[in-house]
Amino acid sequence: MNTDLLARRDAVIMATYGRPALSLVRGQGTRVWDDTGREYVDLLGGIAVSVLGHAHPAIRAAVLAQFDTLGHVSNLYANEPQVRLAERLVELLTERTPGSSDNGAAAGAGIGGAKVFFANSGAEANEAAIKIARRTGRPEIIAAENSFHGRTLGALSITGQPAKRAPFEPLLPGVRFVPYGDAAALRAAVGEQTAAVFLEPTLGEAGVVPPPPGYLAAARAVCDDAGALLVLDEVQSGVGRTGAWFAHQSAGVRPDVVTLAKGLGGGLPIGACVGLGAAADLLRPGDHGSTFGGGPIACAAALAVLDTIVADGLLEHARTVGDRLAAGILAAAIPGVLGVRGPGLWRAIELDGPYAPAVEIAARQAGYLVNAAVPTAIRLAPPLVLTNAEVDAFLAVLPGVVAQAREAAELPGEGSKVSA
Ligand SMILES: *Cc1c(COP(=O)(O)O)cnc(C)c1O
Repeated sequence: MNTDLLARRDAVIMATYGRPALSLVRGQGTRVWDDTGREYVDLLGGIAVSVLGHAHPAIRAAVLAQFDTLGHVSNLYANEPQVRLAERLVELLTERTPGSSDNGAAAGAGIGGAKVFFANSGAEANEAAIKIARRTGRPEIIAAENSFHGRTLGALSITGQPAKRAPFEPLLPGVRFVPYGDAAALRAAVGEQTAAVFLEPTLGEAGVVPPPPGYLAAARAVCDDAGALLVLDEVQSGVGRTGAWFAHQSAGVRPDVVTLAKGLGGGLPIGACVGLGAAADLLRPGDHGSTFGGGPIACAAALAVLDTIVADGLLEHARTVGDRLAAGILAAAIPGVLGVRGPGLWRAIELDGPYAPAVEIAARQAGYLVNAAVPTAIRLAPPLVLTNAEVDAFLAVLPGVVAQAREAAELPGEGSKVSA
C-alpha cells in the first residue's frame, strides 16, 4: 500500500485504531480495490454494514434524490423520510412472526405499538436505550460478559470487556455482568432493582457466538418476572444479517427495546433505538436529542436498504448462501478448522489455535477481506448480495489460506511434520 498515506495518517489521525493493512479507494458490489489496483472480495462488509454491497444503485439514487430535495433540517422540523422509516421499522418489529410469544408488554403504544428514536451510530442507539432504562426509576442494569455495546461512556459501561472499560473508570454505577448464555446466572442477578437487561442476540465482536437455544426466551421470562426491560442490541445482528429481519424474531422473543445501526443505512451512518409497548413512551419531552439523528439523507438510504431487501428477497438469500458457506467449510474438513458458528451471512470459522490474524493476512493475499475478530476465530459478515459462485470461489481457496496461516504461525498442517 501507499506508505506515504500511512505516514500522513499517523501524523493527523489519533492512534485509537490498529495500523491498517490496506488503503481502499473504490468499491462496487461485493468488491473493493486498494490503492495499488488490487481487487478483493469483501467478506466483512465494513463490519456488517454494507448489506447491499458497495455503490448499490438503489442507495445511490435515494441519497442523491434526497440531497437534491432536502439534505438536513435538524429535529426542530419534521421530515418525511424520517417518519416513513420509523413507520417501516415499527411495522417490521411488530409483525407477528411464527412462534412468537406475545408477552403482553404492549401497554402505552397499544398492542403491537412501537416508537423510534433516531441516532447516528450503534453506541448512540444504546445511549438512548440506557436513558430509557433510567426512566424506569430503577438503578441497575444487567449486561453480559464479553458483550460489546459501543465506545461512548454509557455504552462502554455496559460492555463486558474489563480491558476496554478500565482506563475510563469511573463509569456508570449500578451495572453488573453475568456470563453470556447462562440463564440461571441471569435469573439470580435480576431483581426489583433491575431497570433493564442488555443482551446481544449473538455476541458479535466476541466472535459471532450464539447463546444456547432458549436463552433469549429465558431472558424474556426473567425480565417479565422482575418487571425489568429486555433490551436487545441488534446493532450487528439486525437488518437481515441472520436471514431474518431481526435475530430475536428467529428466537420467537419480543424485546422491550431494540437498538439498530450497522446494516440499517447500508453504509450511511444511522442508528435507531426502538421502544416496544410501554417502553415506547418512557422518554419524555426534552429527555434526549440529536442534531443529525433521523436526517433525511440517512433515512432515505435506510428506506432504500429495506425496500431492496424485500424486492431482491435478500433474507431468504442470506439464509441459503450462508448455509452453503457453512456447509462448504464443514465439508472441506480443513485441518485446523474446528467448526463454523453463527446464523445467515454472519459466521465465524473456529480455529484450533490463536492464529486468526495469520488467516486474515493469508486470505487478503488470496483476494478476500475477512476479520480476525478474536485470536481463535475468523468473522465473516459479507454483503447480503454475496453470490453462490463467490462462496464457492472462497471455499476453493480456504484450505490453502488456513494451511498458509498455520505455517506462518508454525503449526503443523496436513502432511507437514513438526520439525525436531
Ligand atoms: C458495532 C456495535 C456497536 C457499536 O456501534 P458503533 O456504530 O460503532 O457505535 C454496538 N453494539 C453492537 C452489538 C455492535 O456490534
